[in-house]
Formats: sequence, structure tokens, C-alpha cells
Amino acid sequence: MRAVTVIPGVPGSLRLLDDYPEPASEEGPILVEAVSVGVCGTDIEIIEGQYGEAPPGADHLVLGHESLGRVLEDSTGTLQPGDLVAGIVRHPDPLPCPNCAVDEWDMCRNGMFTEHGIKALPGFARQRWRLQPRFAVGLAPALAEVGMLLEPTSVVAKAWDHIDRIGRRTEWQPRHALITGAGPIGLLAALLASQRGLSVHVLDLATEGPKPALAGALGATYHSGPLHQLDLEPDVIIECTGAPAVVLEAMCKVGPTGIVCLAGVSSGGRIIDFDAGALNRTLVLENNVVFGSVNANRRHWDFAAEALSKADPDWLGSLITRRVPLSEYAVAYSPGPQDIKVVLDFTA
Ligand SMILES: [Zn+2]
Repeated sequence: MRAVTVIPGVPGSLRLLDDYPEPASEEGPILVEAVSVGVCGTDIEIIEGQYGEAPPGADHLVLGHESLGRVLEDSTGTLQPGDLVAGIVRHPDPLPCPNCAVDEWDMCRNGMFTEHGIKALPGFARQRWRLQPRFAVGLAPALAEVGMLLEPTSVVAKAWDHIDRIGRRTEWQPRHALITGAGPIGLLAALLASQRGLSVHVLDLATEGPKPALAGALGATYHSGPLHQLDLEPDVIIECTGAPAVVLEAMCKVGPTGIVCLAGVSSGGRIIDFDAGALNRTLVLENNVVFGSVNANRRHWDFAAEALSKADPDWLGSLITRRVPLSEYAVAYSPGPQDIKVVLDFTA
């Protein structure tokens, strides 16, 4: 069968193989036919050879961690043939660490977890894959065109879950949420904020393209100026740019007892002249919290599936700015400046 693969660590090794083996029965009793996979920055880093690990004994890593498929067979009866399904990306480490031992693999302490399409497990950019029921998340039939957004939504569902848990340290009645960065993660974080009834603000550099209208359609206020000039005291900031200057401004901008969730990954290596003492003073005197968040566990995937089922399918569809047929796979991994989410289509 066909599969999109790289040789990890070898730049330029992206290939569409047509003789990749069928998924082994040990992968799980649920056999799935691929519908589509979403492309994200992690895929690009793997293609550039900066990241990624093949399964033990293999040279190739199948790409794809933002999955959507249709069940072909499930001997356990958990899902029915024809059901839409996505596969959970991360699997717990085998030791396991205290968090993986209670299925909180998103909080793995020893780094020995594995991830489909990223770290030691084949990804979902292949025509058929298999899942264990505990890693299979069913999706409402209405999400047939957009269900590959479940993975990025699970990431922001986890961010909101942890914001809630931290908020419970006190009487927590957040009103204003600011999302920095209007890429797929930022816009999905804004979607979840709007579903919670918060007043939502989205900040991004873009003044053209689809981002302002997508934020507006959620009822959010869109800003493109500097963060420190916003006339706003957010209770929650979800930082999705990873841009060092924006990260620092977010930590300074959040209101008293506020929570800043850092969800964007910086590349590092950029030095900024910054008054760390003033930041410390603000964090202490205002009881503010800054925390990092990555990945998601089963509970978050289920939250995310519920959030997507309540969202406007047309709005979700507008996040997908290009659908590339599998035969033209390489084009999918070269996002353009106006792209939000590019999807590789296995049905075309
Ligand atoms: Zn672990």
C-alpha cells in the first residue's frame, strides 16, 4: 500500500512508497482506511531531518499524526464499519513513569513515550492503519471533511483543562481570554474559549488573509498591533506563537491572578534584553501563573471530539486552506504564507 515516509535525520528523504507493508495485526484490532491527514510544523521539521525517529529496526518513518480515517473492521465491536475515527498520537512509556501509569501520557516524566508519525511508531499517512480501542477516538459523521482537526484540538483541550485545574486554586471567574497567534492551534484555542462564553481576543501579525475573519466569526476581537499596547487585562493568555518577544509580553500583560499557558515552541538561540526582575515582581505580587503545555491524553481527545461536534462545520472547514491529493504529496509539505491548515487527501 502507499505511505508517505522519510528516513529520519536525512533531509530530502521524503517519499511516497507504494509497497509499504499492510499494518500488522499487533497494531490493534481496529482496521482503518485513511481519509486524510493534516500537516503541521512538526512534519516539516521531520522532513528537514531535525526531528523524528523510525520504529525499532526500521529505516523509514511513516509521517502523519493528525489523522482521520474510516473503520473497515473492528473485532471488538467498539466502533462500527464506516465510523469516522482518529488515532491518539502518543503512547505511554513501557516503564511506565507515574503519569503514564495512570494514562496521563501527555505528562510523561522520562521521555520514553512513543508517538505515531514522530517517534518510533508509524504515522497515519498510509492507506490503512490499525488501532487499539483505547487509542481510537470516534468522531461524529458531520466531521467527515474536518475530523483531522481533532489532534490539534486535543492539544488546546489539554491547555484549557490545565488552565481550569490551576484556576481552581482560588475563586476563579475568568472573563477575558487572549490568544496570541492565529494559526490552527491559536484559532482552535479561540474556538474553545468562545464555547466557554469568554470574551475572546486574538492577536496575530497578519492584517490580510483569512485570519481576521475566522476570529471574527467566533465573536472574537482581532488585533494585529503590539501586545503591550492592547487596552485589555486578560485573565487567561494562551500563547501560541513561540516568538520570544511575544512570550515575554504575554507574561507581563496578564491580569492579577491570571494564567499564561505557553503552547508555542520557540526554536531557541535568540537573546533578548529583558528586565527579569520586573517580571518576577509582577508574577509574585499578582499571584500569576505561567505554565507550559504540550500533547494530550485520552480525556482531552474526548473533550476535543465533543468541542468539534458543537462547532460550526463551515468554520472548521475554513481552517483548511488547501487539500492536496496523495499523488501530489510533496506539495502538501510546502505551506504557503496564506495557509492555515493543509491536508493530504487519501480519497482523491
Ligand atoms: Zn511516562
